[in-house]
Amino acid sequence: MALRFTSLGSGSGGNALVVECGRTRVMMDCGFGVAETKARLERVGLAASDLAGIVVTHEHDDHLGGVAAFALRHSIPIYLTRGTAQWLPIEFPAVLVHLIDSHSVFEVEGLRVEPFPVPHDAREPVQFVFGDGDVRLGVVTDLGCSTHHVEEKLSGCHALVVECNHDLDMLWNGSYPAGLKQRIAGRFGHLDNGTAAAMVKNLERAGLRHLIAAHLSEHNNKPALAVSALAAAIGCEESWIGVATQSDGFDWREA
Ligand SMILES: [Zn+2]
Ligand SMILES: [Zn+2]
Repeated sequence: MALRFTSLGSGSGGNALVVECGRTRVMMDCGFGVAETKARLERVGLAASDLAGIVVTHEHDDHLGGVAAFALRHSIPIYLTRGTAQWLPIEFPAVLVHLIDSHSVFEVEGLRVEPFPVPHDAREPVQFVFGDGDVRLGVVTDLGCSTHHVEEKLSGCHALVVECNHDLDMLWNGSYPAGLKQRIAGRFGHLDNGTAAAMVKNLERAGLRHLIAAHLSEHNNKPALAVSALAAAIGCEESWIGVATQSDGFDWREA
């Protein structure tokens, strides 16, 4: 069965990605308001009723911010760790909440979802590998550094969406306050282009068909810098690397 995926937008202004396998579609994170999410879904040919579930990585507003309202409006089940669930509004109906273990595979209507913990400054953050039993899509958008465990999970994927948050020089020379710079560059912050590239280089990637840079900072990065770092690391043409943008994400791709 084919597995395809699209991003509705990526970056600190809001994130959402949709994975489709057969007739099952799952949204990963929702950092947009209800109307904005609906409009972004329409752009990729989907309606809220097409979603079987929303899987959530962590409580930061650009990921969890739109989840409760959208899920409630359209009665969509959500899947998240206990640590992330603590940040749901108290009145959110328990019947829609599926607590996940950050090390245990689960399924949403036949779509296999493999969570794994990542170092990030949130309560219990995870990222995900999606699969149909044949092809695998790995997504990692918020992590301060790579780990052996993360690389084990991402190895063997056919498609990867990887955080390239900032260029270190742009971050340090930029206008952010010193404390914020340290938080972003820290081990529980966000991946810079060079660290993302080194992580991808370490992976087993013989079957890799898509590599997309995501969660780029609009202040501290440029798409060309992220692309050239990734392309250099794995020795491919720069045109082969995709970039997820804040305004448009990226169009459907088949893993
Ligand atoms: Zn984020
Ligand atoms: Zn975050």
